[in-house]
Parts: sequence; structure tokens; C-alpha cells
Amino acid sequence: MTTLPPTIIVDLQASIRGRVWSPADAGFDGARRPWNLAVEQNVCAVVEAADADDIVDLMRFARENGVPIATQPSGHGATGRTAGAILLRTTRLNRIDIDAGRMTARIGAGVRSGDLQRAAAVHDLTALPGSSPVVTVTGAALGGGLSWFGRSFGWMADSVLGFEVVDADGKARRVTPTTDPDLFWALRGGGGELAIVTAVELQLRAAPQLFGGRQLWPAVHARQVAEVYRSITEAAPESLTLWLELLSFPGADPMVAIDSTYLGDEATARRLMHDTSLLPTPLSDTRAPMSVADLGTITAEPTDPAPGQSRAELLTRLDDTALTALLDEPISPLMAVQIRHLGGALARPSDSPHGALSEPYLAYLFGVPTSDAVGASIVRKQTALAEALPTTGRKPATFLNPSERLADALPAVSLRRLAQLKKERDPEFIVQGNFSVLG
Ligand SMILES: Cc1cc2nc3c(=O)[nH]c(=O)nc-3n(C[C@H](O)[C@H](O)[C@H](O)COP(=O)(O)OP(=O)(O)OC[C@H]3O[C@@H](n4cnc5c(N)ncnc54)[C@H](O)[C@@H]3O)c2cc1C
Repeated sequence: MTTLPPTIIVDLQASIRGRVWSPADAGFDGARRPWNLAVEQNVCAVVEAADADDIVDLMRFARENGVPIATQPSGHGATGRTAGAILLRTTRLNRIDIDAGRMTARIGAGVRSGDLQRAAAVHDLTALPGSSPVVTVTGAALGGGLSWFGRSFGWMADSVLGFEVVDADGKARRVTPTTDPDLFWALRGGGGELAIVTAVELQLRAAPQLFGGRQLWPAVHARQVAEVYRSITEAAPESLTLWLELLSFPGADPMVAIDSTYLGDEATARRLMHDTSLLPTPLSDTRAPMSVADLGTITAEPTDPAPGQSRAELLTRLDDTALTALLDEPISPLMAVQIRHLGGALARPSDSPHGALSEPYLAYLFGVPTSDAVGASIVRKQTALAEALPTTGRKPATFLNPSERLADALPAVSLRRLAQLKKERDPEFIVQGNFSVLG
């Protein structure tokens, strides 16, 4: 573990009005631990900022002492690349201001997706949430961000109107397409390595009606369910999004599920998904009119910290060969294989580091490494599936795993532009992201 000399720790504590943990403090191990418990991360101190001014002071301290800052509100995207850094928690920057007339929100950098959804739902509005209610909106948007509503409205980052940041010079400022077009471009998918974000202004959308939920069957029906999933998604309007789930939990029979959301009325949703009613009777069907505040419940992902080992692949098609690769053998030792339907607005031009996402499906291969041996067998299974599926080899930045690099997500031209900006804006490398723009 890298340590800071005691006198420097005293200076740090004196600089910050929020909370500081040094390795000598009780609670340091809990404070430095990421949400993904499979990732070990060493840091020299943890700072929970009281507010944006605290982050200005932290930046000044970090520059004076040559210590990098790794911002990590939750650790859902932890990679372990934090050695020697001060870990910055933005949890207390949790203010949400909704302007219902303009259909916009200004949110603190620590706001979690579910909290924003609850605040927006009061006004029949929605942001662009992903599957988990406890991921921060800022962390997801900095990686582009794939939402339930991406087919209608594109990347989460496409809805960002402006960022409030503390840059590597220690200045607090607002970044918009007019004040700083380069940085505005970079922060919408290039990761968190060019500035520390303290707040985000977002465009919200109308969500007067929403229908969604999960239909669940025994895995014996997986082929039929997958074929119906494919035929519905091939004809689906952009307002309908379906994810196929192959599930294999310890001590339970394997299952197959279709998770769905439809931005519109129940009757139309049921008509568009009519072919699922021709399948064997499901074990359960939670589909119902729902609030956008409850989107995080559909996939029933854990909200408390948990270990996970994932690999994502973008698919060029979901043909019979792909279905055979997915279904011919049990998914174990994986716990879940999720196929997300993309396309729609995600495939249209986007002035962001990712650009358009032309692949129509995403495969997310997830396991829980209960031991090193299980972890190794999860990697073998993920590799075998990735080799058998029709992939492009790239993946969205928010779905990179710790063994991957930003170059696995972004086009080379975007990476070059990000690296150039990093050299210009932060040559001393004070702001450190979970994935480096330098490769
Ligand atoms: C259960 C689960 C479900 C998920 N579902 C989705 C999904 O549906 N769609 C999707 O796109 N992704 C999804 N993800 C991935 C998730 O969006 C990314 O891991 C994202 O980076 C998490 O952001 P965070 O801030 O919560 O995590 P953290 O690990 O705390 O942060 C991730 C990185 O973001 C950067 N960052 C965060 N805040 C700031 C800031 N204020 N200033 C500068 N940099 C910052 C840092 O580089 C940091 O390392 C999911 C992940 C999990 C574990």
C-alpha cells in the first residue's frame, strides 16, 4: 500500500471540510472498498468531499503534493487502477434540481440513477436510466451510458447539456458546447480523466406512461423464448426495448427471461409483444404499467456491494449460429447472460467519443468469482462464448472489465483526440480515471 507521510496527511485533513481516511484510521478499509468486491484497490487516502469547493481545495492539495486523484462515487466500474492515488468519493454531492418547464435537471455528481428517476417521476419526466438504480448518473454518462431508453433517445451522454467541473488547474467552471467544445465532447463518453465533474445538467424526456417487467420461464424453453425474442426485436419500434436473460443461480433451476420496457400504453405494449403469449405459460410475469421510478427493479440486480466478473461483446447479428452458441450448453459457471437490444437512436450519428453504435445487440456475460479457480473458469467460459458469437470485438466503455482498455471501446480517432487533450489539460496526470485515455 502506498502511503503519504504523516505531515502530508495532516495537511490533507486541514484542507478538506468533508471526511478524510488515512491508512491509519479505523474504517479505512471499508472506505476504500469499491462496490464491485471482486476488485482490490489500493489508495493512499480516501476523501469524501463536502461539496464542490472541497474538490477545488483537494485539487490544489493534489497538485502541490504531486498525488493523483481517482474519483469513484460507488466503484461499480472499479478497475483497481488507483495505486498511489487519493480516492475521491462524491457521495455528498447529491442535490437534484428539476426544472419541469424546461424539462431539465441539474444534479450533483454523486446522484444515483434511481434517485434521479424518483425525482423526475413526480413531474412525469424521465432521465435515461440503465439497469441499476445505484450507479451514478455522472459515472455512467462519462462512459457514454446505455439506457433502457437508448433506442429512443441515444446514449445517456447525448442528453447532457452541460457539466460543472474542477479542472486539473484547480478551477471550478461550467463546460458546455460553447464554453469549451473539446472538453464537452470528451466528457460525453471519454471517461473521467480530463476533469472532476461536480454537477451535470441533463435534458429530461416526457414519460407519461410506461409498461414493463419480466416474464420468466424454465430454461427448457430457452430456444423458443430466444426465437420469439429475436422476432419481436427485429420488428420493434424504438419505444420498445427487450433484453433476453439466461439465468443460472446457485441452488436454483436455470431460467430464461424476457425483460421489457415500453414507453407508451399497456394495450400497445401487449400487442407488440403478442408472440410471448404463444409461448408456454411463464412461471411469472411481472409486466404491468409502472413508474419510471421503479425501472431499477426489473432486472433485480443487487444494490448492495457484490463481487462480479463480466465481459461484454457487441454483436453484429443474432442469427441461428449465435443462438446455438448461447443455448447449446449450460451457461454455468456464469450466473447470467444478458442480450440487450440496441439500435434505434443509438445507431444514429452521435457527436461523442463513441459515435454511433451500429451493432444491434450487446451480450453481457456475468459470473461471480467465489474463488480463484471459479474466476479462471468464468474467464474460460466468457472467452469461449465470445469466440463463438458474431462480435465486432469492441464494447461500450461502461461495460469494459478491469482487464480491458479504453481502446477496446472507442474509435482510434477519438482516443487520439482524448490523449491530446489530456496532455494539454493535465500534463502532470493529477486526474486519474478507471480507464486511461493514454491506453
Ligand atoms: C449492476 C450493474 C449494472 C450496470 N448497468 C449499466 C447499464 O445499464 N448501462 C450502462 O451503461 N452501464 C451499466 N453499468 C456500468 C456502469 O454504468 C459503469 O460501471 C459506470 O462507470 C458506473 O459509474 P459509477 O459512478 O456508479 O461507478 P464508479 O466505479 O464509482 O465510477 C466509474 C468511473 O467514472 C468516473 N467518474 C465517476 N464520477 C466522476 C466524477 N464526478 N468526475 C470524474 N470522473 C468520474 C471515474 O473514472 C470512475 O472510475 C452497470 C454496472 C453494474 C455493476
